[in-house]
Amino acid sequence: MSTGSFGESVIIFWCGHDWLDVLLPHLAGVVVERVERTSSGMRIWACTKVQTAPCPSCGVRSGRVHSRYDRKLDDAPVAGRPVVLRLRVRRFFCDHPECEVGTFSEQVDGLTVGHARRTLSSRTALECIGLASAGRTGARLAAGLGLPTSRSTLLADLSALSTRQVVSASVSEDRRMLIELFSRMRSGRGFLNDLTAVPTDARGVIKPTLVIAGRNDGSVPFARAEALASAVPHGSLVESSADGHFIWLGLDWPVISGRIRDFPAA
Ligand SMILES: [Zn+2]
Repeated sequence: MSTGSFGESVIIFWCGHDWLDVLLPHLAGVVVERVERTSSGMRIWACTKVQTAPCPSCGVRSGRVHSRYDRKLDDAPVAGRPVVLRLRVRRFFCDHPECEVGTFSEQVDGLTVGHARRTLSSRTALECIGLASAGRTGARLAAGLGLPTSRSTLLADLSALSTRQVVSASVSEDRRMLIELFSRMRSGRGFLNDLTAVPTDARGVIKPTLVIAGRNDGSVPFARAEALASAVPHGSLVESSADGHFIWLGLDWPVISGRIRDFPAA
C-alpha cells in the first residue's frame, strides 16, 4: 500500500485486497481501484468484476455493453466516518427476442439495488436506527454514527418496509403506542384498505373530491395522487408535508385539517 496526494484528498493505493475483504466484506463483489481520505470521511472508487449481468426482466444474462457510468452511493461508515462509494457500472443491451427491456443497468448482489442512492449496508443500518428511534433523534443518531440523513428520508425508508419487518422490530411500548393511535381512527383497524393498490376508474367519481398526499410517502407514490386528482372531474389535490404516510403527523396538519373541514361547504 502507498499513499499520494490529489487536491485536498489523500489517496491510498491498494496493493493487496486480502484484508480489504475482511474489513469491507460487502465490497467483495467489486474491484476497489483506490480509496481517498477526504475532509469528511472516505471515498472509495470501484468497478464491477463480472463480465455479464442478468436482465432484471427476463433473467437472461447479457455481456453486450451499451454504456458505462458512475453511481454515487452513500455506504456504511468506517470508524464512524462517512463513506461514499463511487461505483463504475455498465448498462447492457438485453438481446432476448421476447424481452421488452431494451437496456438495463447491472446491480451488484448484496451491494446495490435499483436506483437507490445508498448501498444495502447503509440502508439496513438506517432502517435499524429508524425502527428504534424514528424522527429527529434518529437522524441525529445516524449522523453521529457516520450515516448523514434527514428525518424525512429516515421515515420515508421505514414506510417502504413490510409490515412483518416493522412489527418484528418493534417493542411492546411501540405496539402500545400504535394501538392507541389506531384506536383514535374511525375504523380502529389502521390502513388495511389503503395498502393495496386497486385499479380506479376515477372518471366515474362525479362528486367534488379532495385528494391529500405527501411527496415523502414511501407507500403511495405522489404521482398516483396527482393522476387521481386530475382524473376526477372535480378533484382537488392538497399536498401534505408529512414525513410519511400519516398526514396528520405533518407539521401542516392543522392547515390540512381546516381544508377538510371547510371542503363540504366550498
Ligand atoms: Zn431481458
